[in-house]
Amino acid sequence: MAMGVIALTSCGTAAEQTEQPWIVDRFDDIKVIRYEVPGFENLSLEEKELIYYLGEAAKCGRDILFDQNFKYNLAVRRTLETIYTASDVREGEEFLAFEKYLKKVWFANGIHHHYSNDKFTPEFSEAWFREQLAKYINEENRQIEDDFLCQIIFDPALYASRLNQTAGVDVVTSSANNYYEGVNQEEVEAFYAKMVAEDAGNPEPISYGLNSKLMKDENGVIYEKVWKVGGMYTEAIEQIVYWLEKAAAVANPTQREVLEALIKYYHSGDLKDFDDYSVLWVKDTESNVDVVNGFIENYGDPLGRKSSWESVVNFRDEEACRRTEIMAANAQWFEDNAPINPAYRKSEVKGISAKVITVAMLGGDCFPATAIGINLPNADWIRKEHGSKSVTIDNITYAYDKAAQGNGFAEEFILREEDRERAKKYGKLGDDLHTDLHECLGHGSGQLAPGTKGDELRTYSSTLEEARADLFALYYLGDEKLIEIGLIPTLDVAWSQYSDYIMNGMQTQLSRIEPGKNVEESHMRNRKLIAEWCYEKGKDENVIEIVKQNGKSYVVVNDFVRLRELFGELLYEVQRIKSEGDYEACKKLVEDYAVQVDPEFHAEVIARNKALNIEPYGGFVNPEYELVLDAEGKVVDVKISYPANYVEQHLKYGKEYSFLPTLN
Ligand code: ZN
Repeated sequence: MAMGVIALTSCGTAAEQTEQPWIVDRFDDIKVIRYEVPGFENLSLEEKELIYYLGEAAKCGRDILFDQNFKYNLAVRRTLETIYTASDVREGEEFLAFEKYLKKVWFANGIHHHYSNDKFTPEFSEAWFREQLAKYINEENRQIEDDFLCQIIFDPALYASRLNQTAGVDVVTSSANNYYEGVNQEEVEAFYAKMVAEDAGNPEPISYGLNSKLMKDENGVIYEKVWKVGGMYTEAIEQIVYWLEKAAAVANPTQREVLEALIKYYHSGDLKDFDDYSVLWVKDTESNVDVVNGFIENYGDPLGRKSSWESVVNFRDEEACRRTEIMAANAQWFEDNAPINPAYRKSEVKGISAKVITVAMLGGDCFPATAIGINLPNADWIRKEHGSKSVTIDNITYAYDKAAQGNGFAEEFILREEDRERAKKYGKLGDDLHTDLHECLGHGSGQLAPGTKGDELRTYSSTLEEARADLFALYYLGDEKLIEIGLIPTLDVAWSQYSDYIMNGMQTQLSRIEPGKNVEESHMRNRKLIAEWCYEKGKDENVIEIVKQNGKSYVVVNDFVRLRELFGELLYEVQRIKSEGDYEACKKLVEDYAVQVDPEFHAEVIARNKALNIEPYGGFVNPEYELVLDAEGKVVDVKISYPANYVEQHLKYGKEYSFLPTLN
């Protein structure tokens, strides 16, 4: 599970300016930020080398994600890159609109927005584009037929959404992702229901469907096309395996075993091998360097089975780890005191391993946009039996924070001076602790009732799970216990987070949604659910208030202590829904509070945000690593550098790390 996009409410001042700008590119609703990798120079040579190889593996899976997101993404990207590179005219309205479109495609790993999932609307004309096709695309570099390509780009109705979660529609056939082909929702659900039924009673249930595309053969028989060496995506997976083998050779013995298990799974495609690997991975809490590499998160599949490819290469941030070590040491206390039905508490919290990390390379579904926290593995039984690893990514939140300094956001949206002051003082710590608690304890807490399988909540499961983890974090952030164990100096840290969270959930996050659209993405839905529910339940006591002033609306929290109780009450119900697999209650909660947007309120947020010139989304450029060799060709060092050109990085990746055929 990944902790979503950071709440862009950092309230720093412009006083602290760095010599090099943090924002390296801006277009549309996106800003691209560079991140630094402090501490890399101090790692041992083996660790540096390990990071280099794992970093290469991380880049080799990039095409997989493009193809998973949409069957024709590679065709579009390659054609656009060919035109972009060859074009002799590099100015003018049409060209600049085309360039912006290409930048968006790189950012989203495809033609659908990375967050809203809607297809991009090109701002260049089809006539101009056809001229470019005629000029630069020939028999040799043509990926797909011109007319079809134009339809893909210019017909708004065709492949309109990558991920459709609208209630009542066939979410499989109406989603443009490449996880299913020629099958409808009913067929998919029946296919996997049968597999799950046959596996019933297995204490280590397999995550069926995780690493394959589901389709029909020529006889209409439904089958899985598995992503593995020798299977679908083999050209990229072979490269990933090549670098993982290099990495295994310089890893410590424990980590070598983990990497070899991963390699074995990439060869077999057997999900039992994936579980074996995950168990080894979660047990390795000692190695300084760590990596996520594989088909991990299922947010892109409307049915929550298929996982997108991603990689995060990282190492431990020793100093910041003190925070999460304290949490892990107190994990049982948190579980025993959680405001949920005691039957749904874990009697024994196992293997909570939490750390703060420094990211060294992002790949696949973690690039350019990335989560700020990760909690894996996702398989419930592994989490229960072996625990989970939870990380907060410090150098990424640091970069976000730097990029947001002095942008005027706090002045525009936070009404009261006291709230602004509190945010300035404790905002970053509150954000960090929220992420730590969400990842380290929230996702790992609670247990299912006997007989509940865990897949009952279907399309609503991600939203509910994120809400559960957030509520756990919010509830405990305001607990005196945190002062007692030395995590916060004062409850003001919690109150600062509460104000920020409610304002974001009800109001400011809406700036990321196009006018007329509802909330779709599960982290956004979860935040809206929590904020709106608490607003309604606390209305009589004026716990949360929408203040109108000078034609502007402000979301203000008046009663932090009561708000905390409301978080607890909602957590009780959310845990009950998950534990009992209560689909109807889950659906009602999400549909009532998390989806609908008031158009007038929405328009106001967009206008005010626009006036500030703040792009609502952020993503990153990766650092680059280079092996330093001696005269005999032996690696003697690894050098890191920080390129600051978004376009160059993506053209380079497209040239050097693109292994898949156009159609897979
Ligand atoms: Zn989460």
